[in-house]
Amino acid sequence: MIERLRASQLDRLREGIAIVRQSNRFYQARLHPVRTWDDFERLPLTTKDEITADQQANPPFGTNLTFPVDRYVRLHQTSGTSGTRPLRWLDTRESWEWWTRIWAEQVYRSAGVGEGDRVFFAFSFGPFIGFWSAFDGAQRLGALTIPGGAMTTEQRLRSMLELRATVLCSTPTYAIRLAEAAAAAGLDLASSDLRVLIHAGEPGASVPATRDLIERSFKARCFDHTGMTELGPTGVSCEARAGVHLVESEFVFEIRDEGGALHPLPESGSLGGELVATNLGRWGSPLIRYRTGDRVEVTRDTCACGSPFARLVGGIRGRVDDMFTVRGVNLYPAQVEDLVRRHPSIGEFQIEVRRVRGMDEATVVIECQGPDAEAVAQRLSADLRLALGARIECRAVPWGSLPRSELKSQRLRRA
Ligand SMILES: [Zn+2]
Repeated sequence: MIERLRASQLDRLREGIAIVRQSNRFYQARLHPVRTWDDFERLPLTTKDEITADQQANPPFGTNLTFPVDRYVRLHQTSGTSGTRPLRWLDTRESWEWWTRIWAEQVYRSAGVGEGDRVFFAFSFGPFIGFWSAFDGAQRLGALTIPGGAMTTEQRLRSMLELRATVLCSTPTYAIRLAEAAAAAGLDLASSDLRVLIHAGEPGASVPATRDLIERSFKARCFDHTGMTELGPTGVSCEARAGVHLVESEFVFEIRDEGGALHPLPESGSLGGELVATNLGRWGSPLIRYRTGDRVEVTRDTCACGSPFARLVGGIRGRVDDMFTVRGVNLYPAQVEDLVRRHPSIGEFQIEVRRVRGMDEATVVIECQGPDAEAVAQRLSADLRLALGARIECRAVPWGSLPRSELKSQRLRRA
């Protein structure tokens, strides 16, 4: 099975790279013909900084275009949450078809969503690609698509209940906010028709305590989906929900270890590092050996669902540059989140990291409902120390004082 997969990947690389080499100014000089895996493994990596610099030097779209601009039919841009300039990304009719097919055939199917479902999208439809691809994918599947733009959180809740939505697409953080707002407005989410929640943008649906909290509030099942504007929809969580399967039929994935060496995905066992990906269906604006910046652990251990695709254990663990070190302990925001979400009275939270005498010191700032915020902060601090072996102070702030986003939440702040 893996051999067949590798052979099909190599066929698509051979054809795609030949097309890109003819006319793509960004990649032309970087590529050579690919006939074997050895050829592929000699290609240089691509970084986000290189793409950003190219777009700045060659506005407005940069030079990573294989076709004349009039062949492209969609423009999106990244949310630019990590303090960088948003990237613009163009899709042809064919590459958009590729996106929506992966949503329809892989993301929705593996979450058990199909014709007859009513899918609510709790987003204000801006230039970010996620909800547009999810929307078109649901339509392609034959589900009823319900846009939730230009609405308050309460209006979205009422709309979902009134229209009897069965599926919700949102970030995990926004799902928690919907649940809080439902409780405040006296709306009963648990007895709604919602049965599947598909989350992306943050690792929450693969963080056990976050998933439990959302599933309890909605009486529905959460599924995680990973993807990037510039790369495509890379991963889906299946019925077993044991991590996120990488869509190996549409991407070549590799792992870059801490020493900078590249490894193909393991044929058995596990491997950890930064995820590197090459898309196989977006030759109009491709990414070849792209460093995603996501820290992952990949396993080929058999999954209960029967899929042959490798899995990200625990989803995306964090951004490679989100790691902080408290007294020698390396930590990622998702580890803190898993402990924060075990306290249902905590709403938004943020991790503040500052350098003191050459060492990281971290404080978790929490919004807390109820009169005993200080006690919750102390309990959380004890939990963090016990579970992570690091002294992390916790501080309660008034409800509603931390920033809220319906896209990716920025959970780590460096002072
Ligand atoms: Zn599975």
